[in-house]
Amino acid sequence: MRLARFLDRTTAEGPGERTAIWVQGCTIRCAGCFNPHLFGPHGGVLVPPAELVERVLATGTDGLTLLGGEPFEQATALAAVAAGVRRAGRTVMTFTGYEYEDLRRRDDATALLAATDLLVAGPFRRELLDREWPWVGSANQRFLHLSNRMREAAASPDRLEVTVTASGEVAVNGWADSETLDALLAGGLRHGPAGAGRNRAIPHRPATEVS
Ligand code: SF4
Repeated sequence: MRLARFLDRTTAEGPGERTAIWVQGCTIRCAGCFNPHLFGPHGGVLVPPAELVERVLATGTDGLTLLGGEPFEQATALAAVAAGVRRAGRTVMTFTGYEYEDLRRRDDATALLAATDLLVAGPFRRELLDREWPWVGSANQRFLHLSNRMREAAASPDRLEVTVTASGEVAVNGWADSETLDALLAGGLRHGPAGAGRNRAIPHRPATEVS
């Protein structure tokens, strides 16, 4: 699969402490997307799914969050990663710009849906910008429990996580609007390779149960 970024541990990309994977490539191209550098299909690096499973399990985190780019444009490879992580007892949360109903009609999406515990579905729509619900960027995006394993997810608070390495590189995870990021970075911070903000925001958005 084509990997854009691997983050060992974060508390800003889903409930609990999670490993996060950003995939390279997205043909949906929502206006106002925070990660346009992940649109192209040729960036990132090619990594075998089995290697990613090993890296995720080695972190010891609660589970894996898949972000993009668009995970369902690499659904077969990511299904293998997600299934391997779940077999080890970890949870899987997947963000997608597609609607759940559309994914249900796609044969190539079946395995990744089956290996996902919590799906966050729908494109980013900047006219519906939402600063209150956790992890999503616009009010149309939905939480769907595809298993019973992450029922508390929708009640987790939002976070903006800033990491500064020993060399001074700064990475930002979680969701923030551009004004917040501008204020944050105005203090001489340099924006790292992160992809600050594919969705998220704040509490208690009701989740849909589909399992
Ligand atoms: S918000 Fe997500 S689905 Fe939309 S263009 Fe950006 S990466 Fe693709």
